[in-house]
Amino acid sequence: MKTWSGLVCSAVLAATAFAAHAQNPATPGTAAALGDTAARLRERALSGSGAYDILESLTTETGPRPAGSPAFARAKDWAIAKMTSLGFKNVHAEPFTILGWYRGVETAEVTAPFPQPLVITGLGRSVATPPEGIEAEIAIFRTFEELQAAPANSLTGKIAVLTERMGPNDSPTGYGTANRWRRKGPVEAGKRGAVGFLIRSLATKDDRAPHSGALNYDDDAPKIPSAALSGADADQIERIAKRGKPIRVRFTLRPTIVPAATTWNVVGELPGRVTPDEVVLVSGHLDSWGLGTGAIDDGAGVAITLAAAHLAGERHPRRTIRMVMWGAEETDYAGEAYAKAHAAEASKIVIAGESDNGAQHEVGFGVPAGGADLPAVKTLAEVLQPLGVTFNPAPVRQGGDDIGHLVPLGVPQLGMRQENSHYFDIHHSAEDTLDKVDPTEMDKAAAAWAATIWVLAESGVDFRKTAPAAAAK
Ligand code: ZN
Ligand code: ZN
Repeated sequence: MKTWSGLVCSAVLAATAFAAHAQNPATPGTAAALGDTAARLRERALSGSGAYDILESLTTETGPRPAGSPAFARAKDWAIAKMTSLGFKNVHAEPFTILGWYRGVETAEVTAPFPQPLVITGLGRSVATPPEGIEAEIAIFRTFEELQAAPANSLTGKIAVLTERMGPNDSPTGYGTANRWRRKGPVEAGKRGAVGFLIRSLATKDDRAPHSGALNYDDDAPKIPSAALSGADADQIERIAKRGKPIRVRFTLRPTIVPAATTWNVVGELPGRVTPDEVVLVSGHLDSWGLGTGAIDDGAGVAITLAAAHLAGERHPRRTIRMVMWGAEETDYAGEAYAKAHAAEASKIVIAGESDNGAQHEVGFGVPAGGADLPAVKTLAEVLQPLGVTFNPAPVRQGGDDIGHLVPLGVPQLGMRQENSHYFDIHHSAEDTLDKVDPTEMDKAAAAWAATIWVLAESGVDFRKTAPAAAAK
């Protein structure tokens, strides 16, 4: 692989520079000393960061862990024990209440003209069907726009099926756009009279695994049962449709819905050596959908940031490193709960970062407005360069779904960018399991995070001062 050979060459150069510095240590407190330690942390993480072992432990000992479920409660206990064993202080769980949604029976079949089974999975927050399911003729839409253009009442009594294919990452129909089809499709179908909604899985690989994800109902539209079809089954429906006969489908979804379930954000700190009141917040989300074991989404993010925080913390930086494991990212509630609970101390958080894009290496990073020319940021860019991580000068306004809720409170955001070209092959499906994860890739990601956390926590760099206007946006 090109990136790998590049990394080896750069790592050799970095090791040479490291040896030179070891003979002539940089003056403490200087930019050179900051970079030296960051480079040492990078190399330390590359030689075994511990991130994979954390992920192996989490996924093996908790399995799938939907927010507010008994499995999530075990994950919360796991998180407390893990952070305590790694020397974190002030380790605690912060409870909040959510709409709990836990999948049950999920079945589907074509009943006419060619009876056969289909593979589906419910969309998060979907209402249940009756126990016997719903059966109706389907109306197929090849694009979300086509569904939005359907006349009022045109879907009365039908099941709407949206077969639009999600595009590759960074394409106009990549996940950033396509997840709106899943979130809003049920409302668009329901308000035109549909009794059910099926969507082709939002994925970059076609197989028999359906991919879940949350939907958003509106109070002024009927709430209809909604599920994702596997890519292979969406293709099958299209082929049947070409035969020109009306197609009838039956599907059953029997989730358990708990109006007020308790879940937790789990927090631990490595107190700062000089200014413990200044906090560098790093995070990943502990909850997952109930299909796979949430290895890449987002056990990996938890493991990478936790391992990196631990390594950086061993060097006792000036500021406090705070690790947050979000307790309900998938259903959107965790960041909001945290922002509400921490509004009074938000000004203490000098920057917040979140890892929620898989288990692969990092490829880029960005900082808030006004930060590009700061010496500490330049030092960090040099340290990350051998990892193939490039600095993106575009100011970061929102660095993640959960930390994004801290933006209105003026908390500056770190933007880490991960290699994710195959992330949506398995995202939110039963295939999101540990066997897809390469420990070496996790070490590379942890190396970037460890160096970054160190520079942010040890230098005086303060994005609250450089860009108050951007941070307040
Ligand atoms: Zn995630
Ligand atoms: Zn997710």
